[in-house]
Amino acid sequence: MFRSLHMKLMLILLLLITSLMAVVGAFLTTSVSSFYINTFYEQIADVFGEDQQDFVSTLRSEAAQSDGAQRLQDILKISAGELGIDYRSRNYFILDGRTGAFLGGSAGEDSLPREQTPNLLTARNAVARGDATLVGDESDITADYMDVAIPILSGDNAFIIYILDNKESVSELNAQLFTIIFQALVIGLLISVLLSFLLSKTMVGPIEKLTAGAERVAAGDFDSQLPVESSDEIGILTGTFNEMAGILQETLAAVENERDKLDTLFLHMTDGVVAFNHEGKLIHGNPAANTMLHRNLDDRCSYDELFGSVYPFQQMLALQRPNYAEGEMLVGERTLELYLAPFSDQARGGVLIVLHDVTEQHRNEERRKEFVANVSHELRTPLTNVRSYAETLHDAAEGEIPYDTARSFLDIIINETDRMTNIVQDLLTLSRLDSGHTELILTRFSFAEAIESVVRANALAAKNHGHELTCGSLEDLPLIVGDRSRLEQVMMNVIGNAIKYTPDGGHIRISAGSTENDVWMEVWDDGIGIPEKDRDRIFDRFYRVDKARSRESGGTGLGLSIARELVLRHNGTIALAPHEGPGTTVRLTLPIAGPASA
Ligand code: ADP
Repeated sequence: MFRSLHMKLMLILLLLITSLMAVVGAFLTTSVSSFYINTFYEQIADVFGEDQQDFVSTLRSEAAQSDGAQRLQDILKISAGELGIDYRSRNYFILDGRTGAFLGGSAGEDSLPREQTPNLLTARNAVARGDATLVGDESDITADYMDVAIPILSGDNAFIIYILDNKESVSELNAQLFTIIFQALVIGLLISVLLSFLLSKTMVGPIEKLTAGAERVAAGDFDSQLPVESSDEIGILTGTFNEMAGILQETLAAVENERDKLDTLFLHMTDGVVAFNHEGKLIHGNPAANTMLHRNLDDRCSYDELFGSVYPFQQMLALQRPNYAEGEMLVGERTLELYLAPFSDQARGGVLIVLHDVTEQHRNEERRKEFVANVSHELRTPLTNVRSYAETLHDAAEGEIPYDTARSFLDIIINETDRMTNIVQDLLTLSRLDSGHTELILTRFSFAEAIESVVRANALAAKNHGHELTCGSLEDLPLIVGDRSRLEQVMMNVIGNAIKYTPDGGHIRISAGSTENDVWMEVWDDGIGIPEKDRDRIFDRFYRVDKARSRESGGTGLGLSIARELVLRHNGTIALAPHEGPGTTVRLTLPIAGPASA
């Protein structure tokens, strides 16, 4: 109920007014009581005090008379005004000094207190001792009466003038005061309720507006600016709030922007990224990570299940940034390299893992090693031959080796040197193709003429092996765009292979055709064929099904690799085509519009 500022304000004002009134009331009533009591004693002192010894002597002399009591009463009657006797709340009494018996007074005996008051008892004791000192300054402020007893000793007569005030007047005064204070309190309370309303209108109103604005900002609505209606603290606060909301909006937009960037990055990056919280539960995984790990990553996945074998989770958490761990894992046939790093967020941190597929890298590394080994091997064999024949010739005594033998040795040396030159030549060609330094000289030429010229160039070799080399119809073949000499080199290689790998007296058939966008050429032979297991690999560098046969026929094992690279540069394809019976069919396809068409 008292949660609202308005109610609090009202309550404070009510309490303030009430406590103020209570203090004022208490002060006033106490002051009035004190004033009344003081006045009482001052009046008594003025009449009976030490300065008034004449009056007291008169009293004593009158008291000495036989009707002393009556005489005293008469004198006091005259002094009633000075003593403030009002016969209602204040009276005087003449008492017997020894017995305390009532002898007369401004009021009857029934106005005397029923019990003897302490002042009266003290006075009587004083009389008994012959002491005539005034008794009465011991009156208690809290008592409901005040009194003074004045012993009058004269000869045998002893009286006590007893003045008693029952505080009725002061009580009435206090009651009136209380009524006034109560009325003031009620009016004060009404004013405070009214004031609290006014205050709440001027103070709480803007605060409520500010609160509503803050709630809108908390709900994400940054557009509505709060009007600054005053230049006081609340006005300054509203202005600062508007500024803060503006900065918050900018900051949030910047954060959102960064998050979007990160999301896009995570979404499209080729490396996998997964994150786990401090409990090892997955909190993030990008599509690349799904693909690499071959599973749908969701929040049920845990670190231990996925990477526990690579690096223990607790050790990971214990790592201090920027330290990180590395590892490798196999998923199916793929090798993944892992970078594991701890991170801290508002909670208790977690682990971020970047997955990098290094399968291709490893394969390339393997291929590179294999390639270097192959090159070394291919060069070492002819070099060994060259050296051994050269040594034989060198070490032989004059005339020891017949001329014909020496010549055949030299032929071998020349052949091996040619082979090495061919290998180096082919390697250079491949290397240029790999590095992209080979520029294609593009022209528009007749595909049919190119085939015819290659067939013509191979006719003699085919004839030497007793092959029947036939070429199908080359009519209606279009002009194509490409590097003619490079493409003829490819055709030479394919037809040359058909001649090489077909036993003498075989058949080689060349056919060609075109589709809307492409031209194709197929070289069919009924030679030794290529075993199923090798079909995928014959375009690899140095790959040869039968090494001895290839070497015999002067092959380097690089011809088809070069052919494939050249065809790929033309955006074409070269591959083994399905073949029935013994032999091989190689199919070459090229875009009519040339390399730029793709
Ligand atoms: P090479 O210089 O050894 O001929 P290539 O790269 O031209 O090298 O060919 C690779 C291998 O593919 C050859 O060694 C051979 O084993 C096989 N090959 C290529 N063409 C044929 C074919 N027409 N018939 C049978 N095997 C072939």
